[in-house]
Amino acid sequence: MAGFLDGKTIVVMGVANKRSIAWGCTNALIEQGANVVLTYQNDRIKTSLERFVPEGTDLIECDVAEDANIEKAFKEIGDKYNKIDGVIHAIAFADKETLTNGVINTEKEGYDLAQNISAYSLIAVARYARPYLNNPGSILTLTYFGSIRAIPNYNMMGIAKAALESSVRYLASDLGEDQIRVNAISAGAVKTLAVTGIKGHSDLLKMSQGFTVDNVSVTTEEIGNVAAFLMSDLSTGVTGDVIFVDKGVHLM
Ligand code: NAD
Repeated sequence: MAGFLDGKTIVVMGVANKRSIAWGCTNALIEQGANVVLTYQNDRIKTSLERFVPEGTDLIECDVAEDANIEKAFKEIGDKYNKIDGVIHAIAFADKETLTNGVINTEKEGYDLAQNISAYSLIAVARYARPYLNNPGSILTLTYFGSIRAIPNYNMMGIAKAALESSVRYLASDLGEDQIRVNAISAGAVKTLAVTGIKGHSDLLKMSQGFTVDNVSVTTEEIGNVAAFLMSDLSTGVTGDVIFVDKGVHLM
């Protein structure tokens, strides 16, 4: 059956395990016919990925903490594929202390780390992916409602997500001339490794589920399906946008 991503090559950054939102995206992309290239943070994650990704999937190392790593990863991808059609950035990190202690106690080091990995890295990814992206091309990142509301314990990550969403708008403007779209999905809370780093995450997940329109939390498959649409030429009219995929939590 023909898929709407037939013939497209998409880079997905941020699969850590089968619960990852990036893994939901990967499956949806493959279902629509895309060839997917995965990047991973370190050898530990690579070993985990090798246990479940389809045989033959390209795995490229990319710790986004340093620009040089991002540049190298996209050069490696460009050398192999020449052109790619999209990039999904599903990466975030803040150290536990910074997340736990409240925004008022956030120190510069923790602030910088969270901003670097969770927000700045999108800018660097867009810059180093740009030479290899087809026109039209698409870049997508993942954000959360804690960017615009003070969600208990989300703290520093909310600040980083606000910067990330603003970056989406400016990058969309910068890359418009290349017909490269830049968008974010604001996903509902899903139990992943990243979420378990948040103090009281069980309460956050319960609260989020309670605010959905049908009392059923959004799944990584549902998020992945919207990601697939945003990677496709069906979405050439959408850029600089933050699209909620949270079963209506943001309405409440
Ligand atoms: P996850 O833990 O499965 O994925 C986070 C990924 O970030 C991991 O693969 C990790 O290796 C990667 N990462 C962290 N530091 C990195 C670095 N220095 N270099 C390269 N990669 C690095 O969790 P997830 O929930 O799937 O998170 C994916 C994205 O979705 C994040 O941006 C997160 O903030 C966002 N998000 C999650 C939820 C949720 O409820 N889970 C909701 C909204 C948005």
